[in-house]
Amino acid sequence: MSETVERFAPSPTGHLHLGHAYSAILAHDAARRAGGRFLLRIEDVDTTRSRDSFVQAMYDDLHWLGLSWDGAVIRQSDRRAVYEAALAELEARGLVYACTCSRKDIQAVATAPQEGGEVWPVYPGTCRGRARPEGAAPYALRLDMARALDALGGAETVGRFGYNEISDAPGAGQGRHVLDAADLVATAGDFVLSRKDGVIAYHLAVVVDDAAQEVTHVTRALDLASSTPVHRLLQALLSLPTPIYRHHRIIRDSAGKRLAKRDAATSLVQLRRAGATALDIRQRLGLG
Ligand code: GLU
Repeated sequence: MSETVERFAPSPTGHLHLGHAYSAILAHDAARRAGGRFLLRIEDVDTTRSRDSFVQAMYDDLHWLGLSWDGAVIRQSDRRAVYEAALAELEARGLVYACTCSRKDIQAVATAPQEGGEVWPVYPGTCRGRARPEGAAPYALRLDMARALDALGGAETVGRFGYNEISDAPGAGQGRHVLDAADLVATAGDFVLSRKDGVIAYHLAVVVDDAAQEVTHVTRALDLASSTPVHRLLQALLSLPTPIYRHHRIIRDSAGKRLAKRDAATSLVQLRRAGATALDIRQRLGLG
């Protein structure tokens, strides 16, 4: 049996809140219980939205929560060449095409989709089949979903690629899941791998990094569960290993609303300043 490797992978686009604390504590405690490792990865692949001040604040919050991580922190902004190599591999196999469609189509892609957030647009395929254009015209790179499914042996057999899910969330899909071609076409379609402004998409970076860090368990909120089939697809295409996915319940405020980085009331820094202790946070999250 391989060593358990858990990770916490926040994006420094705001302060951490109770939902992040829940992910981080679950992953950390699971790793420690198993005698494994807990890694920290800063998901600043979208350099247009990430801020160094939030990275420092994240370290402070995690230390305050009493969480320690193993090894060096990985920052996605340092790893562009690795993502480019994965992209080049897909492109060399004819699975990628250039898309010059408007920015509006693609603005949400480098960010993990959030519950109640923007709907992930399924691209109509206007630019499908195009090579990278000559000259400096900005373009996105998209996965050609139909070709990708063919490369995996065809839509009928893609179900041989699966992943295991565990969850504490009521209604979450526990157990074994397999890829479904019709579902991938309808929900992900020809999704973006690299944005028009050059930012590598979250989906590609996260899959490459989880493999590079030999992550065995991905612990994250249930609103990311809809991305997992896309991650499994990319793992299959790039011959990368598949972790176990633990999609946990979404932490909400007292009004039942999902927490957001812009809400100061549940940010860890605010709670800390108001005198809360790490134990208070654990108890509030039912992890005391
Ligand atoms: N960076 C993502 C976020 O902060 C989490 C990605 C993941 O855990 O896979 O929402």
